[in-house]
Amino acid sequence: MCTSFLLLTGCDGEPDDRFEKQVHSAVVELRDGVTEKELSTGTRVVMLGTGTPVPDAYRAGAGIAIVHKGEAYLFDVGPGTVQNAITARYKYDIPSLYPTEICCVFLTHLHSDHTLDYSELNFTLWWRRRERLLAFGPSGLTEMTDGMLAMMQPDIRLRSSGDQPVEQAAVYAPVATEIGEGIVFEKDDLTVEAFAVSHGEIRPAFGYRVTTDDLTIVISGDTAYSERLLEMATGADILIHEYISNEGLLRTSTAFQAYHRKSHTITTDLGRLASEAKPGLLVLYHGLHYGLPEQDALAEVKAVYDGNVVLASDLDSFPVQ
Ligand SMILES: [Zn+2]
Ligand SMILES: [Zn+2]
Repeated sequence: MCTSFLLLTGCDGEPDDRFEKQVHSAVVELRDGVTEKELSTGTRVVMLGTGTPVPDAYRAGAGIAIVHKGEAYLFDVGPGTVQNAITARYKYDIPSLYPTEICCVFLTHLHSDHTLDYSELNFTLWWRRRERLLAFGPSGLTEMTDGMLAMMQPDIRLRSSGDQPVEQAAVYAPVATEIGEGIVFEKDDLTVEAFAVSHGEIRPAFGYRVTTDDLTIVISGDTAYSERLLEMATGADILIHEYISNEGLLRTSTAFQAYHRKSHTITTDLGRLASEAKPGLLVLYHGLHYGLPEQDALAEVKAVYDGNVVLASDLDSFPVQ
């Protein structure tokens, strides 16, 4: 398999000079403001993590960045997504994906495979952050934020009480907002709307519809087949959806089969949903296969859906430029 995980090597495992020469890592970045280039670039999706709770050498946990007019909006921050944001910052020359420049994170729900990098995002180089991170998510976000701050108190205390310069005294604390359904964020011509999805007993769990001046993007979060999601995804330019392989599911225990049927979307059902919603592009991510080749799941979707569909890898970017 050749994936984007090993960015400093080519598909043959040898160093990839083309990319290596572009990387100037370990640089403290403090932006002066949004550039003309950022303002004139169309909305872009970067897959920061396409994996699941299952440890994966090639995929970080769930996470998506939508970059629009010089701001990066993250949707979920599973483990490894912040490191991928750093890589994407350089791979695609997106200054707003530098961790201390990321303004906002929207959580679909509070399962660990979607949230473990919340602390990573908030505390990476936090003393150079100039604005507090804005975090949005379902009820429980405040408890999670308070716990994260308690965990990091030694670091906050050590850095704040000594000689080390800190840009803003209280910048370590994110502004956490527990949300319900509806429009939860607007800036310029970007709108973020949350809607409830069907993630088994996890309530609330949200999907998000993001509308800008040039794209409409719908993110499923974790959900079983959802009529509400179908409604929200109808006519979207890009639908980014989780899945579980139909054949793969049959390989697990009956208990897990029952759990997954209530909590996740089987590939054939996703194909049916996409056939009705007719997105410009269906992006598969956060998929379970139970040992079957990943391409089998893609084939299962394609068997019932003849529109544009891709199975995403970490650091893929859409629309393809
Ligand atoms: Zn979940
Ligand atoms: Zn999940």
